Amino acid sequence: MSDVSLRGVRKSYGSLEVVHGVDLDIQAGEFVVFVGPSGCGKSTLLRMIAGLEPISGGEIAIGGKVVNDVPSPQRGIAMVFQSYALYPHMSVFDNMAFGLKLAKTPKEETERRVREAARILQIEPYLDRMPKALSGGQRQRVAIGRAIVRDPKVFLFDEPLSNLDASLRAQTRVEIAKLHATLDATMIYVTHDQVEAMTLADRIVVLNAGKIEQVGSPLELYTRPVNTFVAGFIASQR
Ligand code: ADP
Ligand code: MG
Repeated sequence: MSDVSLRGVRKSYGSLEVVHGVDLDIQAGEFVVFVGPSGCGKSTLLRMIAGLEPISGGEIAIGGKVVNDVPSPQRGIAMVFQSYALYPHMSVFDNMAFGLKLAKTPKEETERRVREAARILQIEPYLDRMPKALSGGQRQRVAIGRAIVRDPKVFLFDEPLSNLDASLRAQTRVEIAKLHATLDATMIYVTHDQVEAMTLADRIVVLNAGKIEQVGSPLELYTRPVNTFVAGFIASQR
């Protein structure tokens, strides 16, 4: 059974359709990367899976259950954006604990989960600091930590590293790969960066103008692109 499944998923803004019937099955534990030109619908797809954007047609299922009418907090997913959006007036610990407090998680359980996430992300020394005292890379780890503490089955990442400089991006990319191995969670990851796509993905989904052009392993896309768009897109990113 697939963990996340899209069936004929469509999205229109007013009279303009921007996602034209996307079908995709993602297996539990799989790392799937969405690539494609700016404006092709990558973020819109993630937001629809997250339940942050209503879908205009089709069906989205998570864990075998259709979630079209399930509100975002009940979908068992967590989303990490490129802008870290930490609460500036709260410590790192409180930033990470915030969602758990809202969900009325007992204090000891909250403490345990925040410390475990901080250990995995190697940000334990910063738990008492305020966000402004952190580097960009540390802040992004706190943002990922906020997602981890909720123990989601599915992680959605929308260009999470695009605000980081090249060396930090490379370092954080390795950490995301480790995180995937450690948590054994399903991850859907949007990026412009071909190295990220090639190194992180079990499968890459190439999108163009609201449609899937090809889905395949990094090797398949290189060796057997189905059309010139895929070939050109993969090659142009080298
Ligand atoms: P990507 O993330 O691949 O760059 P998006 O999913 O953000 O693309 O956008 C897909 C298309 O939908 C674009 O043409 C964009 O202009 C349009 N779009 C996205 N959000 C909105 C919105 N809130 N209202 C109207 N059009 C939107
Ligand atoms: Mg986007």
